[in-house]
Amino acid sequence: MVSPEKIAAKEKFLLFLEGKNLRITSQRQAIIDTVFTTEEHFTAEQLLEWSRQKDQSVSRATVYRTLPLLTESGLVREMDFGKDYKFYDPNYAEHPNHSHIVCQDCEKIVEFESDKIVKLEDEISAKLGFSVKSQRLQITGTCDKLKKAGTCQNKCS
Ligand SMILES: [Zn+2]
Ligand SMILES: [Zn+2]
Repeated sequence: MVSPEKIAAKEKFLLFLEGKNLRITSQRQAIIDTVFTTEEHFTAEQLLEWSRQKDQSVSRATVYRTLPLLTESGLVREMDFGKDYKFYDPNYAEHPNHSHIVCQDCEKIVEFESDKIVKLEDEISAKLGFSVKSQRLQITGTCDKLKKAGTCQNKCS
């Protein structure tokens, strides 16, 4: 089930493209449909693979050209975990205040939200005379599976 927020986010993105006079080609449509129907954080290569399941003709170049538009629109956020590639998060339209904890080895990403964090940010920024525009909290660690088994599914090397 695709949430109403995701459907609204997709509409917003289509308007964003229209505002830039960009054509919505069938390739681009497949990419957009993919992004706004998943809850999972993805890499460019994953997006390419998923989009190709909808439309075989989707090219890597189109994916790489569409990603900056997605982040520029503010509907998808780029996430840097210090790897050679970035992750993209499609969930900000629904959960603008969520944070992440990431396994450094298997790249498992878990989202969490906490009123306490929001409160703390408000307190700190008020004290310093700022108002919060955006926040980004990222915790890296090793997941339970790794701790228990000494390895986890995607552990590199
Ligand atoms: Zn997220
Ligand atoms: Zn792990």
